[in-house]
Amino acid sequence: MLSFDNDPDWLARLNGQVKDIVQSQGCEKPRPAKKQPSSGTSAKNPQKTSEADQKSAVLAPPIWLIPKISHSAYKTFEKCPRHYQHQYVLQDIERTETEATIWGTQVHTAFEEYVRDGKPLPETMKHWEKFAKAFVKMPGEKHVERGVFLNQQLELVELDAPDVWLKAYIDLMIWQPEKQTVVICDWKTGGSKYVDTAQLRLYCLLAFKLWPEAKQCKAAYCWLKEDRMGDVMTMDRSEIDSEWSKISDGWEKLDSAFRFDRWPMKRSALCGWCEAKKQGRCGG
Ligand code: SF4
Repeated sequence: MLSFDNDPDWLARLNGQVKDIVQSQGCEKPRPAKKQPSSGTSAKNPQKTSEADQKSAVLAPPIWLIPKISHSAYKTFEKCPRHYQHQYVLQDIERTETEATIWGTQVHTAFEEYVRDGKPLPETMKHWEKFAKAFVKMPGEKHVERGVFLNQQLELVELDAPDVWLKAYIDLMIWQPEKQTVVICDWKTGGSKYVDTAQLRLYCLLAFKLWPEAKQCKAAYCWLKEDRMGDVMTMDRSEIDSEWSKISDGWEKLDSAFRFDRWPMKRSALCGWCEAKKQGRCGG
């Protein structure tokens, strides 16, 4: 699961920054050039990757106006920028637990404890043991709910680093040194109707950060409700730069929304389930 921590101080500074830019430039003026890192990896310049330069003694200047990034936050923006604005910028909608989110948390905890500690799955999940067992039997070093944290230069940092920017918690990774392969699984409790491999691709890129000697990553969703494993996608180390570029293209849109403080409504069937609507923040 990916997480997104809201940072009120950062957001206050960011809102001021965005306002200054919009006021000083007007909507039609060209975007100011983004500052580029002096060294290290950049999502915008993945070809400049320097795996050896994992940490900077001095914080590098920000590249993005996006305060923090995560897969789920970006997906919210993609679905509806207005929803993203209320959830992550204005933070004026309360996060509510639903039956589905509570169930999702219970399932993830149970699978985490099964793989890590050998704790049996609860009766309600026993029929899914076959999936967890298959991964447990797989040779290699198991990592469950492993946190991976990057700064804007896409360097690995600690969770509490002042420049931590991207945070991800990956359900299950198995490092197989003999094969120089990382196997990744993401447990899904929802349906697979709108399957999107973006999350798996991001996880592969993060796994390559953790294991620089890895040559490939194999990743799949496990669709528990449908009682099946999803298709396995393979990413080769040679694809790292192009994959970061694709992700970066998406982040550009979000960055632009921050730059111009533009959060249009994107009406869809999802409006019916939207918390911004339920809590009276949007009439979409
Ligand atoms: S109700 Fe619809 S348009 Fe409004 S924020 Fe939610 S998803 Fe967007």
